[in-house]
Amino acid sequence: MLRYCFYCILLLLLFSYSSISFCATGNPSFSLHKLGASSPQSKTLLVIGGIQGDEPGGFHAASLLTTQYTITNGTVWIVPNLNFPSIIKRSRGVYGDLNRKFATINENDPEYQLVERIKSIIINEDVDVVLNLHDGSGFYREDYHDSEYGPHRWGQSVIIDQENINVNNFGDLGEIAREVTANVNSIIGDDHFAYRVKNTRTAEGDEEMAKTLTFFAINQGKPAFGVEASKNLSKSERVFYHLLVLENFMKRMGITFHRNFELTAANINKVIIENRNIALYDNRIFMDMQDIRNQLNFFPLEQNSNIDFWTKDPLITVVEESSSFDIYHGNERITTLIPQYFDYDTKPPQISMEVDGCLKNVRMGSIVKVANTFKIITPNGYRANAIGFSRQGEDNEAGLTIEKKDFSSRYSVNQGGSIFRIEFYKTADQKNDDKFAGMVLINFEDASHHIAELQADVVSANTSDDSQGR
Ligand SMILES: [Zn+2]
Repeated sequence: MLRYCFYCILLLLLFSYSSISFCATGNPSFSLHKLGASSPQSKTLLVIGGIQGDEPGGFHAASLLTTQYTITNGTVWIVPNLNFPSIIKRSRGVYGDLNRKFATINENDPEYQLVERIKSIIINEDVDVVLNLHDGSGFYREDYHDSEYGPHRWGQSVIIDQENINVNNFGDLGEIAREVTANVNSIIGDDHFAYRVKNTRTAEGDEEMAKTLTFFAINQGKPAFGVEASKNLSKSERVFYHLLVLENFMKRMGITFHRNFELTAANINKVIIENRNIALYDNRIFMDMQDIRNQLNFFPLEQNSNIDFWTKDPLITVVEESSSFDIYHGNERITTLIPQYFDYDTKPPQISMEVDGCLKNVRMGSIVKVANTFKIITPNGYRANAIGFSRQGEDNEAGLTIEKKDFSSRYSVNQGGSIFRIEFYKTADQKNDDKFAGMVLINFEDASHHIAELQADVVSANTSDDSQGR
């Protein structure tokens, strides 16, 4: 006789999502995330990532600050994806260089609204300090060493436009930058990766830098710094150095925090990939995308409706193409959904499963770990379609005892061949009229060896010569 086991219910993976919901479009817009709570004495730091779309160190650092940090005193505002269309295209700027549009911008410029919106955030009276994160070429040095090391390079530097500005708090830009870099360098140890302070002396006639976000900010009375990690380093190393610098700016401002992971370069890729999941249609579908296939076919999307999705990671988005939907994480396309359209059932049904001999309630959008066998139990009027089930069936696998070898591995959701879709439908007289009710993923452990391979770091091929910098 089957019974519900207390610990089995606890083992169900449940995921909850914070409030932001999106609709897929061709041009996602940036998001603003506010962490911490302000008090009369506390300070607010604004961090901007992704002003140029081909600088993943900066925007992934800003994203991890959003998802992996808890601010315990003070406030941090984060825009991790300022130039989202360019991030997706892995382009410095699909409409030209966004960081040259802050002095003047034509009202017809496709980025006019974006620039107005970020300007209004920068000049918000709550903002005390602005950091604009970049990945810059080579290694900035005061003196010329060779083509990669010298005053013409930008990597591993904190940039100021001038020594100071006349404001009550944090106006000593040079002093603050030197203090922060000294603290960062004492942690780094190795002078090769040490940060320098670069003063562009913008007001003395640097016409290019006069068009930038930080120069706009300081002219609005907002202390602002550019922070550059070197493009000669891997993505995870850049993120590591960015977070080191960010944490030391927070300390300098009296902002305290808790971080969910140990800050080492080796840890960064793992933490970035762990965030790769997405919930669709009010969590009727949930996908862990750490090891997802690059295409999922016959994916049940709602007919005559926008594709609604929720993500924890602000760099994940869904882009509508002519007959498919691409899911991006930063500038990586991680999968493409080839849709099959259905009407959706109004309310997901109660279902249960017998998992390795233990009866469980299962809700839509969950991932059920199975060691050996499972059996689906659906209410009357519903069928369960196990995608890739290779025994004889009529698109209804409810009531059958199923094991991993019953699936054809090419239908798995993940590349490791261990996670499979179970789709639930409310049956109609005509099969074409069946309504999609929701999806559950069956995870036959263990795909971890494959995920470990994915985490092997790849040095970005993007070391192009852009000595013009930030
Ligand atoms: Zn840049």
